Amino acid sequence: MSETPTVETHAFQAETRQVLHLMIHSLYSNKEIFLRELVSNASDALDRLRFTAIADDSIYEGDSDLRIEIEADEEAGTLTIRDNGIGMSRDDVMENIGTIARSGTRAFLDRLSGDEKMDAHLIGQFGVGFYSSFIVADKVTVLTRKAGEAAESGVRWESDGGGEYSLEPVDKETHGTEVILHLKADENEFLNSWTLKSLVSRYSDHIGFPIRMPEEVTSGEAEKGEEADTRVEWKDVNKASALWTLPKSEISDEEYQSFYKYLSHDLDDAMCWAHNKVEGSQSYTTLLYIPETAPMDLMLQRDERTGLRLYVNRVFIMDAAQQLLPHYLRFVRGVVDSDDLPLNVSRELLQENELSGKIRSAVIRRSLDMIGKVAKDDAEQYEKFWNQFGAVIKEGVVEDFSNRDRITPLLRFASTKGDGAKHVVDLAGYIERMPEGQEAIYYITAENHQAAANSPHLEVFRKKGIEVLLMSDRVDEWMMAYFTEFDGKPFKSVAKGDINLASIGKEEAKDEEAEEAKDESALDADLLKKIGESLGDHVSEVRSSQRLTDSASCLVLGDQEMALHLQRLLEQAGQDVPDSRPVLELNPTHPLVEKLAGEEDQQAFGDLSLVLFEQALLSEGASLEDPAGFVRRVNSLLLEK
Ligand code: ADP
Repeated sequence: MSETPTVETHAFQAETRQVLHLMIHSLYSNKEIFLRELVSNASDALDRLRFTAIADDSIYEGDSDLRIEIEADEEAGTLTIRDNGIGMSRDDVMENIGTIARSGTRAFLDRLSGDEKMDAHLIGQFGVGFYSSFIVADKVTVLTRKAGEAAESGVRWESDGGGEYSLEPVDKETHGTEVILHLKADENEFLNSWTLKSLVSRYSDHIGFPIRMPEEVTSGEAEKGEEADTRVEWKDVNKASALWTLPKSEISDEEYQSFYKYLSHDLDDAMCWAHNKVEGSQSYTTLLYIPETAPMDLMLQRDERTGLRLYVNRVFIMDAAQQLLPHYLRFVRGVVDSDDLPLNVSRELLQENELSGKIRSAVIRRSLDMIGKVAKDDAEQYEKFWNQFGAVIKEGVVEDFSNRDRITPLLRFASTKGDGAKHVVDLAGYIERMPEGQEAIYYITAENHQAAANSPHLEVFRKKGIEVLLMSDRVDEWMMAYFTEFDGKPFKSVAKGDINLASIGKEEAKDEEAEEAKDESALDADLLKKIGESLGDHVSEVRSSQRLTDSASCLVLGDQEMALHLQRLLEQAGQDVPDSRPVLELNPTHPLVEKLAGEEDQQAFGDLSLVLFEQALLSEGASLEDPAGFVRRVNSLLLEK
C-alpha cells in the first residue's frame, strides 16, 4: 500500500448509472425501502461471517456479538447503518458497489417503458439493493473492512449517485461495513428515532440478528445546578428471532409478508406461503413463498438460481435453490432450516445426502400443494399466477415424472369452449365436458394464440362442438411430446395424423348433417395423385380432408412429427431439424378444390395446386418461399372470368 493514500475516482458502468437514475425517480413513493435493503445487506454480511466462523472462529476478531446498528446524527444530517459482518475488500467494493452485478441487467433495462408506474414495478422485480440509498441521500459513504484482514486494508467509498464514485484506503479498526447516508435536505424524517424504530419493526423485525439504536439513559435525578447522569445505551429495536423459528400461531400475515420482502427484495406481497415444521428423528423447518409477480431472473440458467436459503440450526449456510428446488419451481422463495445436516455441508454433499433428498421432496410437495390450494380456492388469483408462471410449471410435466399427478391438475389452457377469447380451462373440466364417444383430449399447438384459434384444423371440431385446447406457449409442443395422457385419456393433436370423429356424440350423428357429411364423396384417387405430382417435394401425400369445413386446404403432420412452427423456430436457431414433409389435405366441397378437379389446362392446374398448398402454409403462420409468385398466381385467379 502506498504511504500517502490516494483518492481514486472511478466512473460507474453505464448500466449502473441508468438503473440508479431510474431508481431514484421511480421508487420515490416507496422511498423508505432503502432501510430494509441496507439492513438486509447487513444481515447477509453477518450470516456470511458466522458461516466462515464455523471453520475458524478467529474471524470474529474477538467480537462475536453479531449486530446491526442504526444511528442518526441530527446535526450532521446523516443516518448510519453499521454491521460487524464479513466486510468487503477493495476488490469486493469495486465489484459489488461500483457495478450492478446482477445478471439480466441489460434485459431489464430493455424492458423499461418510460412509464414511471410500470417501471417502478419492474425495478421492484429486479431487486433494488444498495442503490436505493440514493433515493433519500445525496451522498453515500461506505466504510468497510474485511474480517480477518489488517486494519489498514479498510476502504472508503463515496458517491453522490451521479456518474462517479471515489475509493480511498483507510484504517478501520473493526471489521464489517458502515453505510453513511447524507440525507437530502427534505428527508430529515429519517433522523427521527421513532420513525426509524417503526420502519425497523415494520420491515426487519424478524431477521435473525439484533438491530440496535442508541438511547440516552438518565440515571438518578439531576440535582439543582448539576448535570443529570446521562449516557448512551444501545437498545434492541427488533425482535431478532428468526421468523421461521416461531410458532405459526404467533406470526401475523403482515409479519410473513415483511419477511418475504426481506428475503426476496420484492416490492410486492407474496401470493401465498407455507410454513411447516417436521419433527422426529430428523427435524427441519420450511417456509416457502410463491411470489405474486415473476422475478427478473425467472429465465436464468440452471446454475444461476437463487432464492432458497439453507440454514443449519439457525446458521445461514448457503443459497441452495439449485440443490433443493427443481428448475421448474425456480420462482419459489424461502428458507429451509435443518437441525440434522452437518454445519459444514457442501453443495456436493447436499446433492447426494439422503436427508437433503427428503427435504427436497418435501419442498417440492409443499410448493405444489400450496399452488394447488390457490387453484382450488381462488380462480381469479390462480389465473394471475398462471399468467406469470404457467410456462415454467409446464416444464415440470416433462422434468418431474414422480410428481406429475400433482403438476398436471395445475395446468390451464385456452380452449375453443366458452367466451372465445383466452378462456382458461383445466384438464379435468375438459374431460367432464367430453361428449359420449370422445376418447381423446384434442389440442392444437401454434406460434401464438391467434394462429391457434384461427387454424383451419379446428373447423370440423367447431362444427361438431368438440372442444379443442389451444396451446401457444413455446414449451407446449415440447411438453406434449412427453405428456401423452391425462386421467386415462390420450392427447391428440388436431393437426397430426388421421382424425375420425364419426363415433363422437352418436345421438347427434344421426341428424341429417352428419349423414350428409358421410355421403360427401372423397376426392378421386387419380386427381389426388395428379396434384401430388404437380407439388413434387413440397408434400408427402395429398388426401381428402375430414377436418375442413370452410377452408380449402390445410397441412397435416404424422403423429410423431414436430409441429411446423417449432421446426421453423429450431431452423432459425441454426439447429438440425429432421426432414419431414407434411400431408396436404383438401376440402372436397370447397369451390376452389372443385374448380381444380375440373381444370384441364396444365399450367392452371399446377398454379391452383400450388396456391392451395401455399394457403395452407400461410394459415400455419409460415412464410412462403416465393411470395411474389404466390401473389401473381392469386391475382390471375382473381381476374379470371
Ligand atoms: P444484493 O444485495 O441484491 O446483492 P446490493 O446492490 O444491495 O445487491 O449489494 C451488492 C453486493 O454488495 C452484495 O451482494 C454484497 O456482496 C455487497 N454488500 C452490500 N452491502 C454489504 C455489507 N453491508 N457488507 C458486506 N457486503 C455488502
